Amino acid sequence: MESVTDTLGRPLRDLRISVTDRCNFRCAYCMPKEAFPKDFAFMQREKLLKFGEITSIVKAAVPMGLRKVRLTGGEPLLRKEIEWLIKGLRAIEGVEDIALTTNGSLLAKKAPLLADAGLDRVTVSLDSLDDATFRAMNDVNFAVERVLAGIEAALAAGLTPVKINMVVKRGVNDDHVVAMAKHFRGKPVILRFIEFMDVGTTNGWRLEDVVPAGEILKRVTAEVDLEPLQANYKGETALRYGYADGVGEIGFIASVTQPFCSACNRARLSADGHLYTCLFGTQGHDLRRLIREEDASVEQLTEALEGIWRMRADRYSEIRSDDTRDLPKVEMSYIGG
Ligand code: SAM
Ligand code: SF4
Ligand code: SF4
Repeated sequence: MESVTDTLGRPLRDLRISVTDRCNFRCAYCMPKEAFPKDFAFMQREKLLKFGEITSIVKAAVPMGLRKVRLTGGEPLLRKEIEWLIKGLRAIEGVEDIALTTNGSLLAKKAPLLADAGLDRVTVSLDSLDDATFRAMNDVNFAVERVLAGIEAALAAGLTPVKINMVVKRGVNDDHVVAMAKHFRGKPVILRFIEFMDVGTTNGWRLEDVVPAGEILKRVTAEVDLEPLQANYKGETALRYGYADGVGEIGFIASVTQPFCSACNRARLSADGHLYTCLFGTQGHDLRRLIREEDASVEQLTEALEGIWRMRADRYSEIRSDDTRDLPKVEMSYIGG
């Protein structure tokens, strides 16, 4: 099948699947405690897509050009027996890359199981090496050591290259970017600095809190020699730099100051089966209903996905303004980061 493209000529290559909207952390930029208190009504279990439903959707997207799948959430390692989903995805012909984004809290325990199931690699979120700052940022007093142990376990299990996501927020952890770059240099780890984004409606986003990638780069290059690297493929979100002495790589995800919508080839599937064609979407397409109520076959799902994708015109980050900021966007923990 010819690869289907959207109204801006972009194919679908990458699907991010949220397997749960729950999380054991309360990072203020994502699930602030005030908006997600202890008694918050998370999705009921029967609303979650079952593993077989997820694999049907992935199978349906492969003929359209899908090659990469990322499991996320919420915290994906809270979903029971996620290794069975990974096994199911691994068995799908055409899926070339299976990754998982995690806060790392359960990784030390689960890394070998995930690798055995066929996971290719992990991205671990880590916002500071300073224990007090890290505990404050996850807002559940979780020690940084335990995440570092998770990263080591992932490296030992071969879930490489391990990527580390650091969301940089002004006045909170921007002073820690150089220490992070120095710490991971020389390890098979790719550190990525992420600009604080205006996802959802609860994180109190302000442009003043965003540290532009250009500024982070300046701070890092003041102490470490870096050289720009070519993108690995069209649509890569990170701007890449290598350490001048050849040991390792860092990247910047500058979705606020240097948007990359023109090459955006990804979609997101919420834990309750709604497909979103943009991270800043306000409305999803209900695929669970097609599966559960209309008993849609994989072929019928492909048809539905093609119809959705052909209509896609999203370019939120390129047209971000005071007006778009107040749209009723869904939360990242629901749609999948
Ligand atoms: N719980 C997992 C984790 O933290 O890795 C997976 C889900 S989380 C929503 C996925 C990624 O989104 C994380 O790397 C997180 O740091 C990032 N993220 C969440 N809120 C963000 C925001 N407002 N701006 C930029 N990145 C954000
Ligand atoms: Fe949880 Fe990840 Fe969001 Fe932090 S960024 S609250 S770990 S889902
Ligand atoms: Fe893709 Fe939407 Fe992000 Fe633009 S704003 S890069 S279209 S997800």
